[in-house]
Amino acid sequence: MKKKLLIDLAKFRDPVNGKYSFGKCAYDFHPNNLGVKALVEKAMMLFTCRKCEDAPCIAICPEDALEKNDDGFIERATNLCVGCQSCVAICPFGTIMNEVFTYKTSICDLCDFDDNTETLKCIETLPEGAIQFVEMEANETEHIYALNDKVLVKELKWEDFKRNE
Ligand code: SF4
Ligand code: SF4
Repeated sequence: MKKKLLIDLAKFRDPVNGKYSFGKCAYDFHPNNLGVKALVEKAMMLFTCRKCEDAPCIAICPEDALEKNDDGFIERATNLCVGCQSCVAICPFGTIMNEVFTYKTSICDLCDFDDNTETLKCIETLPEGAIQFVEMEANETEHIYALNDKVLVKELKWEDFKRNE
């Protein structure tokens, strides 16, 4: 089975002070790039966002930077976003975190890892367990979902909270 990255969204946040950590990134062309941030943003929009029908985040954005794609997921045009955080303030469910939706754009190219790769700079510099190499597939009963063919995300979807009520 091919190696994948497993991103555990809950582990990015310090349990004591609640602050996010995104570690360091090996993206050579942009020294301040935090590639993991780009993955976390996408994961939040795919798995945490409730995909509101009237999407107040889209309505409030002064730069028209947010839109729903054909699959119903919110996407942010990072070339338009000015980091005003209006969407962060209006989202009634806390989906959008101001630490994640910043003006700066980060890029993750997944460092071309393969089955022989032992570690990555992001894995080494993040809180333990935030990103791991795994040999597994998506598994809904364990709340593990596929972000793409190389990345899995562990996250409790809001539907899961409803099911547990
Ligand atoms: S932070 Fe960006 S996406 Fe959010 S409302 Fe402001 S401009 Fe729009
Ligand atoms: S307001 Fe929040 S939960 Fe609703 S669509 Fe926007 S980001 Fe998702």
